[in-house]
Amino acid sequence: MKTAVVTGASRGIGAAVAKRLATAGYAVAVNYLSSEKQARNIAEEINSSGGVAEAFKADVSDPREVRKMFEDISEKLGGASVLVNNAGISFIGLLQDMSDEEIGRLAGVDFLGTVYCSREAAKIMLPKKEGAIINIASMWGEVGASCEAVYSACKAGVIGFTKALAKELGPSGIRVNCVSPGVIRTDMNSGLDRETIEELCGDTPLLRLGTPEDVAEAVAFLADERSGFITGQVLPVNGGFIA
Ligand code: NAP
Repeated sequence: MKTAVVTGASRGIGAAVAKRLATAGYAVAVNYLSSEKQARNIAEEINSSGGVAEAFKADVSDPREVRKMFEDISEKLGGASVLVNNAGISFIGLLQDMSDEEIGRLAGVDFLGTVYCSREAAKIMLPKKEGAIINIASMWGEVGASCEAVYSACKAGVIGFTKALAKELGPSGIRVNCVSPGVIRTDMNSGLDRETIEELCGDTPLLRLGTPEDVAEAVAFLADERSGFITGQVLPVNGGFIA
């Protein structure tokens, strides 16, 4: 059984990705930071429907915790054939109002977390000469969002990292791609009021927000051999919001 590591899988998009990859036959490492109960529930849901999953705590912005998590996953679930770099936080506000800590935290989780996890996964995938890394970017990383300058830059960085790493790891049989979601119904957007949600739906040609399952389907496609000749690409899942 191949193993998929999904970061930030206790809630939202990550939880949907973990469940979707379990139905595709992967043993799933459900990474979380603070939502232990929810991560354990996701793993339990997968296990009780005949899959294999276990929850692993690690802050993806801490390279030592990431290293230890991949060692634990290798020991308990036997490696990592697929890595989904999904863990992320958002910050909405003006750049000049951001503290050093807020900027550092955003860059640490949303950009460096992807780098640290990819590095550990590559060490496991390289000797086997196979694997797939899927990074969750954002449409704001493609076009930029006002009041989300650092978030947008981190996601643009994730897109650049994806393209470069795809070239570096392609000759070793490892594919690296991005899914770039539009506005998805998760806790990350729970602060938006009804009027803003309606406006966002109106700005979306498909006239609705995305669901975590919409994103999970795209990830599942990029994880398996149906997409075996696709690497270094950005797959938008945004209802046509940007094209
Ligand atoms: P969410 O519902 O807020 O969930 C975030 C997840 O990331 C949680 O499982 C959380 O774990 C985890 N996480 C946060 N910081 C972490 C850290 N330092 N180490 C490990 N895990 C951490 O967010 P979401 O909407 O599902 O977003 C998932 C990804 O999609 C993010 O990268 C986000 O930027 C991207 N995205 C989202 C949207 C959207 O509209 N929702 C659009 C574009 C892109 P704990 O709860 O355990 O702390």
